[in-house]
Amino acid sequence: MTGPRLTADFAGAFPELVREWQPTLPALREDADSPQLYLTNPGVADDLGLEPSWLHSQEALEVLGARGILPESQPVSQAYAGSQFGSFSPLLGDGRAVLLGEITTPAGEQRDLALKGSGRTPFSRGGDGRAVLGPALREHLFGEAMAALGIPTTRVLAVVTTGDRVFRDGGMPPGAVLTRVAASHLRVGTFELVARSMSHESGADILPRLVAYAAARHFPDVAPPGPDQAGHLLAAVAKAQATLMAGWVAVGFLHGVMNTDNMALSGETIDYGPCAWLEAYDPDAVFSSIDSGGRYRFRNQAPIALWNLSRFAESLLPLIDPSPDRAVDLATEVLDRFQVDYEQARLTAFRAKLGLTDAARPGDAELIESLLGELATNGADYTLAWRHLADALTSGEPIAEVSEGWMAAWRARVPGEPAAVAEAMNRTNPLYVPRNHLVEAALEGAAGGERAAYDRL
Ligand code: AMP
Ligand code: MG
Repeated sequence: MTGPRLTADFAGAFPELVREWQPTLPALREDADSPQLYLTNPGVADDLGLEPSWLHSQEALEVLGARGILPESQPVSQAYAGSQFGSFSPLLGDGRAVLLGEITTPAGEQRDLALKGSGRTPFSRGGDGRAVLGPALREHLFGEAMAALGIPTTRVLAVVTTGDRVFRDGGMPPGAVLTRVAASHLRVGTFELVARSMSHESGADILPRLVAYAAARHFPDVAPPGPDQAGHLLAAVAKAQATLMAGWVAVGFLHGVMNTDNMALSGETIDYGPCAWLEAYDPDAVFSSIDSGGRYRFRNQAPIALWNLSRFAESLLPLIDPSPDRAVDLATEVLDRFQVDYEQARLTAFRAKLGLTDAARPGDAELIESLLGELATNGADYTLAWRHLADALTSGEPIAEVSEGWMAAWRARVPGEPAAVAEAMNRTNPLYVPRNHLVEAALEGAAGGERAAYDRL
C-alpha cells in the first residue's frame, strides 16, 4: 500500500504566492467522536490512480482529515485576491483550504489535490477555517451531477468528518474536511493579486512566470511560449468560460457566487456554495441570500463571466503588448469574441436539447428564445419541460408548458422521425438533477446522523 506521490510544482514555482501549511485543527476533546472517512469517490480515485487500500488507510484518514501530512509533501495555502460582488478585495487566499500538492494521473494529466475545511491559515482573517458536513456533501453531490452531465468541474474525492462540531448559524453541525480534485486552483483572483495587490516590482516579476505556468498547465497547444502567450492565454480562458457558461445555462445551473476568486482558469466549475439547479424556469432566479441585488442571477451568468474575464484581461495588459493602447485593443478584441463564442455554444447546446440534430437554420435561435419565454411565463419545471417536449413529439398530445402555436412550429422544424428525435433529446436532456428539496432533506439527515437519503440521492 502506497500513498499518492505529490509534487509541489506550484509551491516551488511561486513561493511568493503560498504559505507553508501545517495542521491547525484544534485537538479533539475527550468526549468527541473520532474522525471518520465519511465517503470516498471510487471513480475519481481510479482516475487519479489511487490505491483503494491507501484511501481506506489510517494515513489517508489523517491526511484527508487535515491532521497529518504525507511524507515528502509540501502542503501550502494559496494567496489570491478577488472581486467579490463587484468590489475588489486585495488579499483573500485560502482561509480554510490547503493545496496538498499535484498528482499525475495514469493518463499523464496533472491534478491538484486540495483540502477544504482544513483549519485556520494565515489567510483566515476572522474565519474559523472550518467546513461542516452538509456543505461538504453538497459540494460532492453537485460536482458529481455536473460531471455526469458532461460539464467541466472540480470533484470531491473524499469527505472526512472531524469528530467535533462547529458553530454555524446558531447550530453545531458536524465538522468535515473535503478533498477536492481540480485541474488547478489558479483563478482570476490569482492574477488580480499579482497585478493589482503586489508591489509594482515584485508583481511585474511574477506575472510573466504566472502566465507561462498557467498556459503550460492548461492550454499548452493554443498558448505556447512566445510574445503572444498572454493574449493567447486570455483567449483560451475566455473560450473555456464561454463553453462552461453555455453548459450551465443549458442544464439550468445557477452558480450563485461568481466572484473572480471563484472562477478557475481551467474552465472547471469551482466552489459550489449557495448554488442550485433551477426548478421553475426563471431567468431572474437568485439562490444566494447575500446576493440581494441579483448580481449573480441566472441570466447574468455569461455577462458576469465576461466581467470577470475583463478583470483577468486588465491583469494581463502589460504582457499583452508593450503599448498600452495596443494592449487594450487586443484584449478588447478577445473579449468581444467571448460573446460570439458563448452565443454559438449556447445555440449548439439548445439546438441539441430541441432535437435539432441537422444543420442550423436561421429560425432556430428564435424558436429557442420563444420557447424559453413560454417556459418562464408558464413557470415550467425547467428539467422536466424538455422531457415532456420529447414525450409530446411522439404522442402528438399538447403539454401544459408550451402553447400549441410554438409546438406546431417546432414539429414542423424537427428533422427525421419523431421517435428518433425524441430519443436524441432524451439522451441530451437530464431526467434527474439535484433538486433543492431533496438535497436539503438529505443534507439535514446526514448532519443529524442519518445518511440513507444522501446515499440514495
Ligand atoms: P468562498 O466564498 O467560499 O469562495 O470564500 C471566500 C473567501 O473567504 C476565501 O478567501 C475563503 O478562504 C474565505 N473563507 C470562507 N469561509 C471561511 C472560514 N470558515 N474560515 C476562514 N476563511 C473562510
Ligand atoms: Mg472561493
